[in-house]
Amino acid sequence: MTSVPLFPPISSQPGTYALILRASRGRVVQIGRLGLFTIRPGSYVYVGTAFGPGGLRGRVSHHLRLASRPHWHVDYLRRGLEVSEVWYSHDPHRREHLWAALLRETAGCSVPVRGFGASDCRCECHLFFFDSPPSIDGFRRCLRRTVRNHSPVRVAYLHRGKFSRKRKA
Ligand SMILES: [Zn+2]
Repeated sequence: MTSVPLFPPISSQPGTYALILRASRGRVVQIGRLGLFTIRPGSYVYVGTAFGPGGLRGRVSHHLRLASRPHWHVDYLRRGLEVSEVWYSHDPHRREHLWAALLRETAGCSVPVRGFGASDCRCECHLFFFDSPPSIDGFRRCLRRTVRNHSPVRVAYLHRGKFSRKRKA
């Protein structure tokens, strides 16, 4: 199988993002020094920011490829999951910890591994599990209630390896 480069319809400006990752079946993957991780069928959400070179576009492109040399926890996890949506915002502030806190409070959310993606902060983790995928509309409502003047959060959907602005069945 060849890997086709994907170019997300996302600009290279900096910003915050959430990857919605889907597992259609369970499996076990090694997550670096965190050890073995059991992926359950359902949806995982991983939150991060990209304020370095390449911005959001570069970072999301990174997540879409399978890393041959995994660097972040999520690089290991990606081997067992498919990216189905990317939520992102070019808000000038680093919003990852806020997004993580709001997702944690969302109904149906659980924490699969404490500390995942949160080695450099005080969050419980930056990875969450949901039996059914969380809704972007609900997330936007939470965000509006919590922060004034947050830049818009957009969504890019991935369907069979292609990006679209609309969710496909
Ligand atoms: Zn954090």
